[in-house]
Amino acid sequence: MILGYETIINKIVDSTGLSRQDIESKIEKKLKDLQDLISREGAAHIIANELNVKLFDNINRSLKINQIQPGLNSVNILGKVININEIRTFQKENRQGRIGSLLLGDETGSIRIVIWDEKLIDLIKEIKQQDILKINNAYSKQNNGFKELHIGSKSQIIINPENETINNIKLSNSAIRKQIAEILENEFVEILGTVVQVFEPKYYNSCPVCNKKVVQEDNYFVCQEHKTVIPKQTPILNIFFDDGTGNIRAVLFRDQAEKLMSEKKNFEEIKKEVLGKQLIIKGKTTKNEMFNRIELTVNNIEEPDPEKIIAEMQNDV
Ligand SMILES: [Zn+2]
Repeated sequence: MILGYETIINKIVDSTGLSRQDIESKIEKKLKDLQDLISREGAAHIIANELNVKLFDNINRSLKINQIQPGLNSVNILGKVININEIRTFQKENRQGRIGSLLLGDETGSIRIVIWDEKLIDLIKEIKQQDILKINNAYSKQNNGFKELHIGSKSQIIINPENETINNIKLSNSAIRKQIAEILENEFVEILGTVVQVFEPKYYNSCPVCNKKVVQEDNYFVCQEHKTVIPKQTPILNIFFDDGTGNIRAVLFRDQAEKLMSEKKNFEEIKKEVLGKQLIIKGKTTKNEMFNRIELTVNNIEEPDPEKIIAEMQNDV
């Protein structure tokens, strides 16, 4: 286990009450005594020992996902599996290796877990979505601006430990690309698929300034915030979206609905415009209790870039 210099100093300060200056001068002296044969951290370790400071007690801290900062060692964490990625192989110089990854979430956020250890990679096959994982002794890194938790040969993964539960997962802001068949409730997902059914749009009166629904009072329309306004007709559009693994009912509000209908008003025209259209849609999944199915509230649609799709398919092979 590797402890940073700062961590050691703080530990010594906490348990002895000595000042930082005192401790550092002891460390300097130790370095001189040992003629700089050891590192500063090494000297700090020795001083801690001499002062009877236990460095490793409670150092395996259990953290929540939003407490993870890059550069931490010995991180313990409990989370629920949101998504599991395929194991990739890579070639580096003469060495071939494998890398596994999955997305783990808890009440405070979600984080990508990267697994390097060969034995633990084999364990991935036993992990399913929604499993709870207890991970011990991982280390955190920063990759392309995102925090990751890495699992090496000293780490441990326990699948579904007893008496541990996680209720609400809070997703950090990125949507996960998923197939419809594997979608769960309360996820922020991105799906590539085709519009297979479209229902006649419904319109409601909304405030032209803030887009909120307005209330009719006699001959006036009133927005709570902007008082009397001339309302605009805002559409809600329901579609069924299919990606070959399943289909999902998706609801689009104003901007997204308008974007998809491209200003068509007549239902026949809208159908012609929308049916069979291939799209990438992003949104939040919710459970419709009445129909016992998962639906999607869309907050973004875009037309897929064919070159990107081909590149992704090649990546998956
Ligand atoms: Zn308003």
